Amino acid sequence: MPRRASEENASAPIPEVRTYPALREAAAACRACPIGALATQTVFGEGPTEARVMLVGEQAGDHEDKEGRPFVGQAGRMLDRALEAAGIDRGTTYVTNVVKHFKWVAKGKRRLHQKPNAREIGACMPWLEAEIEVIRPEVIVALGSTAATALLGKEVRVTRDHGQLLATPRARHAVVTLHPSSILRMPTEEYRELALRDLVADLCQVAAALKGR
Ligand code: SF4
Repeated sequence: MPRRASEENASAPIPEVRTYPALREAAAACRACPIGALATQTVFGEGPTEARVMLVGEQAGDHEDKEGRPFVGQAGRMLDRALEAAGIDRGTTYVTNVVKHFKWVAKGKRRLHQKPNAREIGACMPWLEAEIEVIRPEVIVALGSTAATALLGKEVRVTRDHGQLLATPRARHAVVTLHPSSILRMPTEEYRELALRDLVADLCQVAAALKGR
């Protein structure tokens, strides 16, 4: 039976028995922060429960909100490209976000992405903690600064620390790297290609860590 919000620091209704299907089902009804009411549906993480790598982005985007799956839009295609170049099969990874609903503001007919605030991230973190507990990945990859800060604290800087094997109590290693969306926002094709090269290089470190090197 899921706990009511008031029973767990006014927070996410994490089920007592933590299995992937139970978490996914409970998260579908979460309204622990205001973002839930804005979005079409919860975008829970997906991938094999025996995945050795967990990839964590910031939050569900516009496409993801409509499809109900993480990293399926342009950023997802960029991530697929980078994973393939690094020799990591996305089908073997578990892909999720820190925040499970899409936060947006209307601009004409468009829905513009809004960064989740610290309170919203805090409200949603129990879901990510529970996913980590169930999947028990060897390597957690934080894609972008929101995931890096949520998982590793404010001291970690993506620009400085990307690609290093960082210590975390949550897994054997943590790696921070660029969020694919930030690459898409770069002003020129040349910048995008350089940034993609960095993302691939960081993911190569993940692949090497999996091989025990
Ligand atoms: S964003 Fe997270 S905490 Fe907020 S309602 Fe959605 S699942 Fe719940």
